[in-house]
Amino acid sequence: MKKVPCPRCGAPALFGPKNEWRPFCSERCKMIDLGLWASESYRVPDKEPAPDDSPGSDPDTSSSSSSR
Ligand SMILES: [Zn+2]
Repeated sequence: MKKVPCPRCGAPALFGPKNEWRPFCSERCKMIDLGLWASESYRVPDKEPAPDDSPGSDPDTSSSSSSR
């Protein structure tokens, strides 16, 4: 049976249909890896501040004030 080093701990892991956690050596290693993945994707990047460049933010100057 082929064996591959576990990407998590480096231990020889059985690489075959018998090992449902392949290429990890055990369920724990797979869970740890998945957990790391989850926590990494959970981390939200810093929010970029929206540019305060909305057009017409000052309607008092664009509108014709001499309509009265
Ligand atoms: Zn392992």
